[in-house]
Amino acid sequence: MGNEPVFAIEQNTEVLIDNAAITAKVAEMARQIEADFEGESVLLVGILKGSIHFLSDLARHLRLDSQLDFLQASSYHGARETTGLVQIRKDLDINIAGLNVILVEDIVDTGTTVNHLRELLLTRKPKTLRIAALLSKPDAHRVDAQVDYVGFEIPNEFVVGYGLDYGERYRNLPYIAILRNQDDNSQPELFAG
Ligand code: 5GP
Repeated sequence: MGNEPVFAIEQNTEVLIDNAAITAKVAEMARQIEADFEGESVLLVGILKGSIHFLSDLARHLRLDSQLDFLQASSYHGARETTGLVQIRKDLDINIAGLNVILVEDIVDTGTTVNHLRELLLTRKPKTLRIAALLSKPDAHRVDAQVDYVGFEIPNEFVVGYGLDYGERYRNLPYIAILRNQDDNSQPELFAG
């Protein structure tokens, strides 16, 4: 897929990771997971909405017996700021007791969301619990976020594309881009990444 600006919204973006690099990285992450869970089954839990493309691509690369489920967590955000409050808006359908669970997250920013979800899911007694994040911003981590599979470490910039949004837009871009020239005066709101 191309990375050339086609849509008007792309005038505000600067490509950080192109689609070919994402595809190669997701395949590499799938190989790591296969090596760790050889001969076993896994449950991939996508954290809505930002992980949709990552989850979909990862699941298709993974040559393991697997199931899919989804969680939606919300943290109170301004347009680009997280506040540390996490709520579950949509819980899992599947009982994870005794399963190998891999939480699939788009991006680890402060680390608050993945840490909260890890604590929550551990109370449900999975056999194992791992976290896979396509992106991580090490300079933004405020808590010690243990992420088992990280695609790319990126600078502390607000990014969009490949599932990541700004006001629900940009999720459809096939690449990860830094967002430029946006009005950032919006008030804090319930934000479902
Ligand atoms: P954390 O709890 O680690 O601070 O934030 C995790 C969530 O905040 C992510 O799942 C994502 O929804 C949102 N987020 C953090 N950084 C970014 C970013 O650069 N761009 C976008 N679009 N969302 C982000």
